[in-house]
Amino acid sequence: MNQIGPPLGTTFFGHPRGLATLFFTEMWERFSYYGMRGLLILFLTATTISENPGMGLDAASAAAIYGLYTALVYLLALPGGWVADNIWGQRKAIFIGGCIIAAGHFSMALPSDATFFAGLILIVVGTGLLKPNVSTVVGDLYPEGGARRDAGFSIYYMGINLGGFLGPLLVGYFGEGMNWHYGFGLAGIGMIAGLIQFRMGYKHLGNIGILPVYDGLAAKERRFYLYTGITGAIIAAFALLVSSGVIDVSLSQIAATLGGSILVVVAAFFLYLIIFSKHTALEKKRFGIIFWLFLLVSVFWAGFEQAGSSLNLFAESGTDRVMFGWEMPASWFQSVNSLFIIIMAPVFGSLWVFLARINRNPSFLYKFALGLFGLAGGFFVLAWGASFADQGDLVSPAWLTVTYFFFTCGELCISPVGMSSVTKLAPANRVGQMMGVWFVGTALGNLIAGLAASDVGSGFQPLFWQVTTFAAGAAIIALLAAPFLKKFTGDVQ
Ligand code: GLN
Repeated sequence: MNQIGPPLGTTFFGHPRGLATLFFTEMWERFSYYGMRGLLILFLTATTISENPGMGLDAASAAAIYGLYTALVYLLALPGGWVADNIWGQRKAIFIGGCIIAAGHFSMALPSDATFFAGLILIVVGTGLLKPNVSTVVGDLYPEGGARRDAGFSIYYMGINLGGFLGPLLVGYFGEGMNWHYGFGLAGIGMIAGLIQFRMGYKHLGNIGILPVYDGLAAKERRFYLYTGITGAIIAAFALLVSSGVIDVSLSQIAATLGGSILVVVAAFFLYLIIFSKHTALEKKRFGIIFWLFLLVSVFWAGFEQAGSSLNLFAESGTDRVMFGWEMPASWFQSVNSLFIIIMAPVFGSLWVFLARINRNPSFLYKFALGLFGLAGGFFVLAWGASFADQGDLVSPAWLTVTYFFFTCGELCISPVGMSSVTKLAPANRVGQMMGVWFVGTALGNLIAGLAASDVGSGFQPLFWQVTTFAAGAAIIALLAAPFLKKFTGDVQ
């Protein structure tokens, strides 16, 4: 329901000026997200008795909180996209989402458990409103679609990673080096900078992201507020009963139940689409392929997103971070992946273009297998390094750096490739919905990444080795299945 605006000028690397507005909005949002996320598990597990006291939780509870938080951030992209499409329009959803995110970070800047958890909830809700909708507006800048839109998205991905690079460096420096809560506050300041910049850039967006008033909007809006209120009240009541011990359930159990439910609901939805919907035979086969990609991408993020959990703990307690007599914050390693993305995204982009020119561009099915091999390779290196760390030695930062290099190669084979494949595989009237499924895959992966990290207490090497074999197994299955599944994709490469 987006109206496409007037010609918007071309001043940002030959792209519409509005792209710069969205680039910096998302850059600052990711600055705050990855900056805070870099501190999260370290803060949760840090002892309460120190100059910079943490929460003193055990690794299993901390990992469950990390998993639930990062999963919900992506899961709420589903309602967030719906609100923008139906009630507020993207622009309002982004602005309000950003305000809620900033409020969340500032809430965490206050040193109390209650404001900490309230902050996490606010960030989850705000990111659900902001993140999916910024991408939609980026797409709308290019009504003609095609290669220019792809190029626009590549530039936008740079913005994401510029934020992902700077956030952990600055927020980590203040949070780990001085006071956790200064770090959280700085993340909030970053989000405010993004909001000011977004508001000032409205003029460059024409009327993109503004929802025209339509019949029934007011009634829909009222129902939305009512249902949101009821859902919020139920969740608050549940949280109260759990935290006061009336309902005896652990965070890990809640996380595991959420993961199982996501899988069952998504599988049932695809069964419905394939058996009962009115789509053509080819469209149904392609739904099967999208479900396959959903499973593979969940496995991929389940390993990759341990960056913020088990790998972050490994950086903290297993890695020698002293340089020239100064100890580097553990969260700085969170920037390495983004730095590699900035360097290598253009390399991978040109590689695919080159291979396409000589008719050798592998199908996305093979690229997914490659991506999983990248993940397995990264964990293999890490398991190797961890075998020394588990004996009590601090290992060289090179282990984590090489691991992140492999992860990044994997990410570049899966994340941008998968997103564009889903848009091509889905029938036109279900593209938005299938993108939603893609985000749910990310949510599930993040959840598993949290749960997996709860084993870290029994040593790094066994966990990392387990993930290596799991990822390598998935990669081999993806590779063997690719020639068979290719028959179902039609002309989508
Ligand atoms: N790093 C990318 C981002 O922050 C992708 C992360 C993900 O999908 N898990 O947008």
